[in-house]
Order: sequence, then structure tokens, then C-alpha cells
Amino acid sequence: MTGSCGMQADLDRVLFDQATILRRLDQIAAQISTDYRDRELTVIAILNGSLIFMADLLRRIPLPLRLDCLSVASYHGGLQTSGEVIFRQIAQPDVAGRHILLLDDILDSGTTINAIREKLQTASPQSIRVCVLLRKIKERGRPTEADYVGFDIADEFVVGYGLDYGERYRNLPCIGVLKKELAAS
Ligand code: 5GP
Ligand code: MG
Repeated sequence: MTGSCGMQADLDRVLFDQATILRRLDQIAAQISTDYRDRELTVIAILNGSLIFMADLLRRIPLPLRLDCLSVASYHGGLQTSGEVIFRQIAQPDVAGRHILLLDDILDSGTTINAIREKLQTASPQSIRVCVLLRKIKERGRPTEADYVGFDIADEFVVGYGLDYGERYRNLPCIGVLKKELAAS
């Protein structure tokens, strides 16, 4: 079946199909709902990669919560992180005194999460936790903690379910490894 308009043909292999992802989100959402049952949660989603993940996860959390988004760029469409994190948004989300849950698509080098956590920390939140859909198993220069992790994966370039390569593949319903010849440029 070519239900994903041929995008799936660009994958070397599928790591997680949609049903597998959603089953895992049920578990993470249940854990978050238990942990925050008596605290009001403020979710800050990191655009654009976490959009699809955020939409599916938040609808599984039956708690009152606030939602904000942060737009940062660290990849510039390539395969390697540039190490520099640029905050695109002018107004920062209101975090003072709040319990913040940061959502991102993938924890790779940790540069993005560390930079955002440090920046938000200066605005006196009550707590900050991190939730990522994917975490790459690799050595990190600086340790980066994630409190909720969907799946640990090998250190390979993946696309789909919000994750892009040159802004493509975000709408692929599964997560897969892009063919080496396509990711080479
Ligand atoms: P970090 O700052 O942890 O190195 O990288 C985090 C960001 O890099 C993610 O939010 C994501 O946008 C991008 N990134 C890291 N690894 C991958 C990957 O395998 N595939 C895609 N599409 N983006 C990635
Ligand atoms: Mg991203």
C-alpha cells in the first residue's frame, strides 16, 4: 500500500508504526496524568518537530493544562546539529511559578533541551520536566535528563511523525530511518 504517497518508499526501514507510537503514548500520558494529578501543568512544545507528538499526547491527558509553544532552530535543515540554538519567538511563555513540561520530538546531542531548560530556569518556574518521543543512545558531552521517553533508538537519522528532513516527511504517520542515499546530501 502506498498510503503515504510514496514517502514511505524513501525509508530504509520503519522503526515504529502509528499503532505502536499511539500505544506508547497511552502509557506516557497515563504516567504524566498520575504525576501531575494535583498540580496544574504548563506544557511547552518545541516547534515544529513536536507538533504531531504533542497533539496525540495531550489528548490522552485528562487534566487541566496550559499549552505554549517555543520556536527554536538548531539544525538548519541538515543532518548535523550546529550547536547553536536560536530563539525565534519574541514573547517568551509565562513560566514563573508554574510546573513546566517541555515536549520535544527527539533528544540527540541535548543542546536544544539544555539551552531551553537554562533559559526557562531564569524565569523562576516551580519545576521543569522534559518529555521526548525519541532519545538517541549515544555519548553526550553534557548529560541531558529526560523524565519521560517514548522510545530509545540507535544513533541514526529518522523522519516521520513530525520529524523532518529539509522540512519533508513530517506528515508521515510512522517513524523510520531515511535511506542513506537520500540523507547523504
Ligand atoms: P539536539 O539539540 O538534541 O542535538 O537535537 C534536537 C533537535 O535536532 C531535534 O528537535 C530535531 O529537530 C533534530 N534532530 C536530531 N536528531 C534528528 C533525527 O534523527 N531526525 C530528525 N528529523 N531530526 C533530528
Ligand atoms: Mg526540531
